[in-house]
Amino acid sequence: MLKRAIDESQAVIPLALMDRYGRPVVGLRISVTPACDLRCFFCHGEGLDDKSNELMTPEEIERIVKVAMELGVDSVKLTGGEPMMRPDILEIVSRLGGLGLRDFSMTTNGFRFAEIAQELRRRGLKRVNISLHSTRPDRYAIITGLDPVEGARRHAQVLEAMRAAVEAGFNPVKLNVVMLRGINDDELDDLIRLAEELSSSSEIVVQLIELVGCGLAAGQRLEHYYLPLSSLEGRIAQTAIARITRSLHYRSRYLMPNGVWVEFIRPSGNYLFCMNDTRLRITHDGKFKPCLMRSDNEIEFLKAMRSGASDEELKRLFLRAVEAREPFWKPPKKEDKIMER
Ligand code: SAM
Repeated sequence: MLKRAIDESQAVIPLALMDRYGRPVVGLRISVTPACDLRCFFCHGEGLDDKSNELMTPEEIERIVKVAMELGVDSVKLTGGEPMMRPDILEIVSRLGGLGLRDFSMTTNGFRFAEIAQELRRRGLKRVNISLHSTRPDRYAIITGLDPVEGARRHAQVLEAMRAAVEAGFNPVKLNVVMLRGINDDELDDLIRLAEELSSSSEIVVQLIELVGCGLAAGQRLEHYYLPLSSLEGRIAQTAIARITRSLHYRSRYLMPNGVWVEFIRPSGNYLFCMNDTRLRITHDGKFKPCLMRSDNEIEFLKAMRSGASDEELKRLFLRAVEAREPFWKPPKKEDKIMER
């Protein structure tokens, strides 16, 4: 069975802004809160290194997205913290859902999701990524810092969220899994089976994520858990029946014989990943963040907005952030290649 090659990162690149490295900027990854109900031991908190309590209001989020859309942005992902911790998440989704974005998605740990999946969809959310770092409730509890009873309850809630996402018509639904050496690295087959069980009307993409140590995760001594995903990818490539390479991050996505897709997010040391990064981040407290891995080049816009900045002034701040973008892992220079030989 050959399935349609799905790639939601397909963008209309000619209209987009380019940064100094020729990378179009077509997406925003917006953190709407630093708060989360889980305590995943590896969490980078979207590269945050402080926890200011300032939050953008729904109106402010809508305004900055509109400004960015005028500069060519056509895709938004909501993240956190846990976006579903915001009591006004439905209002945020409503405001952005009506703007005509090509892609509009959210990444969530499944908290409260099943209850309002239909409503989120009705208000214009197009896709969802749901994080589930283990198929096993006992391991899930350890990873998320919960006691075994609460861990099992939340694990069941995430599975319920996946089912609700499929029922609400989100397609594809992605299952985000940070691969952790010695903890969940033996679960690949189980994850693919679980995804097959959950599929039905929507396609499920098992998204395997390489651990990175930045933001809140910096200095957490995570080296022991780091698993380079190259060998897992090699294994998947051997059994896959189709492969696509996505424009975003040059990520590979493989179609397994049971109809489940497996995608690899392998940023570490990977210049192709960085050179194909088309997104700018926004922190919950209103800063443009040009790179997940750094906090020294953020550009504040919320204070300016609250002090009466016009849309033109906000655009200038956006352009400064695009100007500050720099691949964290860069292609080797010609001289380096000569030295390597
Ligand atoms: N709370 C939401 C969730 O769990 O999906 C959204 C925020 S979370 C920071 C976004 C994604 O980043 C999740 O899939 C999470 O597993 C992943 N993530 C967090 N820390 C990470 C790390 N150190 N390395 C790689 N991925 C990480």
